[in-house]
Amino acid sequence: MRRRDLLRGLSALPVAAGVSGQVFAGKTAVSPPKRDLFKELGLRTFINAAGNYTSMTASLMPQEVLDAINAGAGEYVMLEEVQDKVGVKIAEICRSEAAMVTAGCWSALVLGMAGVLTGMDNKKVMQLPFLEGTGMKSEVIVQKTHANGYHLALTNAGVKIITVETRDEVEKAINEKTALLWFLNREAPEGKIKHQEWLDIAKKHNLPTMIDIAADVPPVENLWKYNEMGFDLVCISGGKAMRGPQSAGILMGKKELIAAARLSAPPRSGIGRGQKVNKEEILGMYVALEKYVNTDHTKEWKIWEQKIALIDNTVKGIAGVKTEIVLPPVANHTPSLSISWDDKKVKLTKESMGEKLRTGSPSIEVIAWETDNNIRLTVFMLKPGEEKIVAQRIKEELVRASA
Ligand SMILES: *Cc1c(COP(=O)(O)O)cnc(C)c1O
Repeated sequence: MRRRDLLRGLSALPVAAGVSGQVFAGKTAVSPPKRDLFKELGLRTFINAAGNYTSMTASLMPQEVLDAINAGAGEYVMLEEVQDKVGVKIAEICRSEAAMVTAGCWSALVLGMAGVLTGMDNKKVMQLPFLEGTGMKSEVIVQKTHANGYHLALTNAGVKIITVETRDEVEKAINEKTALLWFLNREAPEGKIKHQEWLDIAKKHNLPTMIDIAADVPPVENLWKYNEMGFDLVCISGGKAMRGPQSAGILMGKKELIAAARLSAPPRSGIGRGQKVNKEEILGMYVALEKYVNTDHTKEWKIWEQKIALIDNTVKGIAGVKTEIVLPPVANHTPSLSISWDDKKVKLTKESMGEKLRTGSPSIEVIAWETDNNIRLTVFMLKPGEEKIVAQRIKEELVRASA
């Protein structure tokens, strides 16, 4: 059928067959009634004053990111090509040699590890995660205080984790099986060996290094700081403070290592095949990163401080209530408010306070699991105006429970 005949045929179709017409036209002729899936499925939505938690679906994407995802969904492209092109842009922004979009920071850790082990050898790619007898290296050195769960991503590639505490222990642990020296930025203050010393040891032994900075913007400079410092691979989450797709992240670093990491990722069938990111997320991640870098961070910080001050001022006059503005030093480095109460004056446990805020209207999530007679909250994930609701609701519950 020639195109003209095809179109003529379509226009002759009755209205009920309009669906196929929509596909060809690429737009919706009659918009269907808007569905409210949250209501339909009975899903609780809430004000997120807790922060970036995977269990709470972490962050909301800005309109520009949603637009990129929608636009991306409308065309076919070659998956490798979109990774190539976006990789170049991300690398430019983050001042690394190369970059790729991964399925979260965890996937960046897995794929980066895979790339370190296999290099460009496709036979090795298909042998992961079984390293014995393959000639691949099999050990990763990690400081004890840095081995707190996220390091397990590396073991997806088959490696064994060797924990150390001192420089002397690192030197003793290094042998012909050592594949990588891994660093968890969040725990940098806790570890005996700091960034530069870690890099120096690696350099001396000609070993590659990787750093996990998953939740470590702000400050925005962290996007390039560790690339410039000399880490061979840097892994970050896309859907935390950057507010890209929650299931996206970035692996950046040395050109040959990124190329090697991609051998284990879709469209190929290596260990990363189940960590697929399609063009929508790749494009969404790129736009989120670009928007994040172009944000006026000083202004944004001031707005966060104002919101924290508003909540603080609303609750701190209540008898027996004490507040403190806290700034986590590395990860989730945004102002947060700690609210404590004397349980003789305010008869509440942290759990019941959390539950009252959760079951109230609107539902609110705060951090109600850290310290007794205390909740903590952040404001960087709030929608405009929600800080007033949060302040009022917390005050209400504190006053109600006051003897
Ligand atoms: C969140 C986090 C991860 C995992 O990141 P995802 O993007 O959820 O895959 C890894 N490491 C650290 C330190 C994190 O905070």
